[in-house]
Amino acid sequence: KLFNEIQELKGNIRVYCRIRPFRPGEDDKSSSVEYIGDNGELVLSNPTKQGKEGGKNFTFNKVFGPITTQDAVFKDIQPLIRSVLDGYNVCIFAYGQTGSGKTYTMMGPEKATEKEWGVNYRALNDLFNISHDRRDTITYELCVQMIEIYNEQIRDLLGSGGNTIQPNGLAVPDATMCPVTSTSHVIELMQTGHDNRAMSATALNERSSRSHSVVTIHVRGQDLKTGNTLRGALHLVDLAGSERVDRSAVTGDRLKEAQHINKSLAALGDVIFSLSQKNAHVPYRNSKLTQVLQTSLGGHAKTLMFVQVNPDVSSYTETLSTLKFAERVS
Ligand code: ADP
Ligand code: MG
Repeated sequence: KLFNEIQELKGNIRVYCRIRPFRPGEDDKSSSVEYIGDNGELVLSNPTKQGKEGGKNFTFNKVFGPITTQDAVFKDIQPLIRSVLDGYNVCIFAYGQTGSGKTYTMMGPEKATEKEWGVNYRALNDLFNISHDRRDTITYELCVQMIEIYNEQIRDLLGSGGNTIQPNGLAVPDATMCPVTSTSHVIELMQTGHDNRAMSATALNERSSRSHSVVTIHVRGQDLKTGNTLRGALHLVDLAGSERVDRSAVTGDRLKEAQHINKSLAALGDVIFSLSQKNAHVPYRNSKLTQVLQTSLGGHAKTLMFVQVNPDVSSYTETLSTLKFAERVS
């Protein structure tokens, strides 16, 4: 209910900012985050330029400070995720520069304990459990697809060997659909996707920061009394790093990657911006990413963006452009 009201007020997207903690070895006295308010306020400042430049104010739907747990983040978005079981399409994505915590939020850290699980595991688990609880009134089928978009090419992460897919002009590509049969199966599926992602990449981290990963949970429900069916889908997206690449310093493959990333993130920004402006024409077709997400952006779909922030002052310029991107679409 509340979410719908906010959607009415703010257009089609809800924006949550998440500030990651300093890592061991990082200088925690050099934070660019000056202030975090209870109502989504954030002040960003550049301590190295003190006096010259005042702090910059931003307001989002919510700001999660560095000590916010994975559990607390999930609790907050749980109603949104569960609305998929009522037939909504939901899209949740993480935006930010490499190292800002996108993968941590969506998936969790490498070798995560249950407490450290990110949104992907928790969402799939929760949907599976709830659908099981409702089995006397509605029978649900849950299926998962996982793809990666790299250089405007889509790869299937749950197929054998991670095939490249030709999207046949449709919004959702023809990627392998895996039915979810138990909660332990959830972990297995996520692991398979993760492994397939790594298989073709010599340096997984390098590669994963330059590709978008999309986990889609498809839900089909049938009311046992009336026989009515409903469909919903949840897209969980770990976007490629948003950092500006110095075009004068890179060539060849790196330059091509950077251009593809810039293009697709710009296309995503343009789609969300035109939705927030209630424009009649929404430019979905400008990138593979926006084509894939089309059914979960706009219309009656619910969209949530995590804007990820690395608090280190050395990231100030990137953080500022990240927050400006988020401000434009919110
Ligand atoms: P990205 O995917 O944006 O490149 P990562 O998710 O890999 O960034 O995060 C960078 C590092 O910071 C990783 O070591 C990750 O485990 C850690 N990290 C990120 N967010 C948090 C958090 N909220 N709490 C603890 N560690 C975090
Ligand atoms: Mg990552």
